[in-house]
Amino acid sequence: MEQDQLFERLWNGTAPMEDWTQAVSHGAVTAVGDNIVTVHSTYFCGSVTAIHTSAGLVMIDTASAELAPRTLAAIRHRDDSPVHTVIYTHGHIDHTGGIAVIDAEADARRLPRPRIVAHRDVRRRMERYKTTQGFNSIVQGQQFNYPNYTYPVGQRQPDAVYDDTLTLTIGGERLVLFHGRGETDDATFVWLPERRVLVSGDFVIWMFPNAGNPRKVQRYAAEWAATLRRMQTLKAEVLIPGHGPVIFGAARAGQVLGDGAMLLESLVGQTLALMNRGCTLDEVLHSVSAPAELLAKPYLRAKYDDPEFVVRAIWQLYAGWFDGDPAHLKPAPASELAAELAALAGGAERLAERAATLAEGGRTRLAAHLAEFAACAVPDDKAIQATRAMVLERCMEQETSLMGRAFLAVYQRDAAARSKD
Ligand SMILES: [Zn+2]
Repeated sequence: MEQDQLFERLWNGTAPMEDWTQAVSHGAVTAVGDNIVTVHSTYFCGSVTAIHTSAGLVMIDTASAELAPRTLAAIRHRDDSPVHTVIYTHGHIDHTGGIAVIDAEADARRLPRPRIVAHRDVRRRMERYKTTQGFNSIVQGQQFNYPNYTYPVGQRQPDAVYDDTLTLTIGGERLVLFHGRGETDDATFVWLPERRVLVSGDFVIWMFPNAGNPRKVQRYAAEWAATLRRMQTLKAEVLIPGHGPVIFGAARAGQVLGDGAMLLESLVGQTLALMNRGCTLDEVLHSVSAPAELLAKPYLRAKYDDPEFVVRAIWQLYAGWFDGDPAHLKPAPASELAAELAALAGGAERLAERAATLAEGGRTRLAAHLAEFAACAVPDDKAIQATRAMVLERCMEQETSLMGRAFLAVYQRDAAARSKD
């Protein structure tokens, strides 16, 4: 009952998702229907859906390694049957990391480990994580401010993979797996046709679609929208998102899918129209705007990713890395450019002073350029670093998204530390 009231407040936008995270942190179970539960532990970890069949449990995702014990315990409180099959909706660690906990339980009970089913590209993703573990450790550590973070690799790989669609019948339960690209290239959503239950994975996350993370591999805004449209045609009665609470009712489920698709279609359409007219990335970034009425929806707020980052990802997908500024094709070293501009301005201090004035006046984007030039020209100047720290703090105040703030904070902390050394 309390959960229902909280849901209504999340749905109408009067409660923040932080309230939900607090409410579910012990490992909250949502009964989705006969023999199906979804378990949540925090907004930031993928939810886990368990389907009881006569052959054993089918689990859709595993949660992260840290939260899987809590999630599995919540399932075990209701259902003691062995785990027959695990479906990964994609290869992100907050959806796959818990497999070790599930395997360990099977080992302890002397039962076979579950079969893992996923899209073919999950394997490639897991291999890539090994190749780029150092980089991912740095980026993930920065994004969530975990110093000395080590990105976990080596989760158990899928035993069976598919390409476009796959129908599984397990213990009398029919599950249809569909592939789509969106946040990732290896994503699956699961449709239970007899129950009209749709398990969307991270195609639905109760937030603005996470299709533009500045420091991650390519994301696919247009295909994300197309996948949401494909989901809409199924007319689900229940929508189980990758993150956030379960959405009951065909009207609400359809609305969430349709609004998400419309928002992405708008960004893709505007960006492509400008690109096709020959605009530069600079012109595109400062012309495209996300429809305000969609961004205002409680399930589409840009609190994690930023629409401007998505526009960049769309550009990158179709146009590559060159932004259309000839000076950026083969740029001079940043330190040379900074030194030249500092000399022209009458010293790096002048650049920093102007940066401070602009930042205080709210022109934080422009201020950031000048502060970075000043600091790049004379990196060891404590006063310039102090100005830089102030400017970046003002920039952070302008950001609505966690990513925008988090990545700026990395440099803000650096500047603050260097201003005191
Ligand atoms: Zn996720």
